[in-house]
Amino acid sequence: MLLLGFFLVLAALVQAGLADAADPRAPRLAMLLEDGGPALGAEQALALQREGRFRDLPAGVPKFGIGAPPVWFHFAVDHAGSGPLLRQLLAGVPWIERLEVFVLQDGQLRAVQRAGDGEAGLRGPMGSLGFAFDLAFAPGHSDVLIRAQTADPLVMPLRLLPADEAIELQRRHDYGFGLLYGFLLALIAYNAMIFIGLRHRSHLDYVLYVGTFLLLSLAYSGHGVARLWPGQAGFQQYVILMLMVLLAAMGLRFASGFLHLEKIAPRAHRGVRGFYLAALLAIGACTLFGLQSVAVFTAFFVVQVFSVLMCLLGVVGLRARQDGAPYFMAGAVSGMLGAAVTAMAVWRGMPFTELTFRAAELGFAVDGTILALALADRMRRIREQQLRAEHLAAFDPLTGLRNRRAFAEHAAPVWSTARRHGRPLSVIVLDLDHFKRINDSHGHAIGDTVLVAAARAIERDCRAGDIAARWGGEEFIVLMPETTGQQAWAMAERLLASVRSIDIPLGGERLGVSASVGVAEWRGHDDLEALIREADAWMYASKRAGRDRVSGSPPAADRAYAG
Ligand code: GH3
Ligand code: MG
Ligand code: MG
Repeated sequence: MLLLGFFLVLAALVQAGLADAADPRAPRLAMLLEDGGPALGAEQALALQREGRFRDLPAGVPKFGIGAPPVWFHFAVDHAGSGPLLRQLLAGVPWIERLEVFVLQDGQLRAVQRAGDGEAGLRGPMGSLGFAFDLAFAPGHSDVLIRAQTADPLVMPLRLLPADEAIELQRRHDYGFGLLYGFLLALIAYNAMIFIGLRHRSHLDYVLYVGTFLLLSLAYSGHGVARLWPGQAGFQQYVILMLMVLLAAMGLRFASGFLHLEKIAPRAHRGVRGFYLAALLAIGACTLFGLQSVAVFTAFFVVQVFSVLMCLLGVVGLRARQDGAPYFMAGAVSGMLGAAVTAMAVWRGMPFTELTFRAAELGFAVDGTILALALADRMRRIREQQLRAEHLAAFDPLTGLRNRRAFAEHAAPVWSTARRHGRPLSVIVLDLDHFKRINDSHGHAIGDTVLVAAARAIERDCRAGDIAARWGGEEFIVLMPETTGQQAWAMAERLLASVRSIDIPLGGERLGVSASVGVAEWRGHDDLEALIREADAWMYASKRAGRDRVSGSPPAADRAYAG
């Protein structure tokens, strides 16, 4: 719910500039495509406009797809006041190569401004709102002509705003982007720290994937060229395309690792790697040789294939029952929908609005969140598996008591502490009597039940500091710190009484269980093994003396106990 709420807020903020397509003050536009002959001048274009050669544009953001010829736009400004009318024109998207704005009054060219990312000398875009032109209109009738040219998808949102409204719009955009970038940066930092701590490869892949997306978003929103690499016109022309392909490569790399593709589908793994390496080579070559149009098509093609591949890999993961695959699938679908909507918005198939234009970012923010959750979930599973493995290695699965190995591990520090401080320490060894007979006459399952009952009895009788373990088949051991031989003897008697009272219902018949117990107190033994050996020897003494009793070293033995 929290997440849903967050994305709604994010969408609302990102959508802040949505109203302008239907803004009644948006200028009434007409347009003309150049016919491929020599470029027109502003006066020629105005003459053509006066001849009625310009076509009226319907409401909404005009767009012309990839590889369109240069387009001329025309609108008129009628200013009734006496002083100059100051307006800011926000035009186009940040990747347009060359934008020229001409202001004419009474047919006379009054002002020319140029911007774009195509040449070093041109003014760059401002973050996320395309290119800004400050225009001043004299009283009377003015014509504005705009010429736009680019090899990339040509989209021309146009807004003519008073300066304060332009600032307000810019501020809303900045909040929306600040929130988005802050969120993505937090995801990146969180996973980077986990990678540094745990070295799980998927977290590194995640950082590279989401990091590439963040850079791509900075590049195509215009924030990159406005703030991070201003004036690098040639770079700006290719950086978006290179980052699109890099995003595909990083996404597929993440998918391969996250879904363990090499294991569950080795051929798909090789194919995917071949695809993204080839894509990286292709975009690198296009950049190197300046093949911009080829680069544009390559990048858009690779990103479309990438979206589809991510979903297919999700299906492969689901069919292999890979844990985390449902998360991955949900993320991939969200990312794909967002990317598809944005691609259609800037190319063809969907109207260009702030929301459709920003869909890729929203889809990716959802994708990145889901994948971060998936990685966290996987960490939890790995931790659980580790705990289970540790438990299996230390505890006897039948009785739940520690096994011999875990006993040794826990007993060592107890032994050395007791020795260092000269504190009393005792050991009890307990072996069930004639256990083989119980098995033979009632079956192994009843034997198991008796073992479990004996273990529970031992656990019940032990104090918190005692270390109890299943020493062998039907033999148990208890190490008791801070316990004298006499106290241990009393404990051994309690244990024996508990074993005797084990009551397994056998259909009326009562199963008599007893045990032979040995007690040893530390009195100069060299090591723990020697102490245990002594307790074991006393246990055998109990067996020899007729079973069902406690035996121990003097003075405990003075009080021989046989029920
Ligand atoms: P004693 O009084 O001399 O100790 O005789 P005993 O029959 O108890 O001793 P013995 O060592 O001859 O037999 C132990 C039996 O315990 C043999 C073995 O099959 C059985 N046993 C060991 N582990 C398990 C177990 O996990 N479950 C069951 N049901 N029996 C077990
Ligand atoms: Mg036995
Ligand atoms: Mg035995």
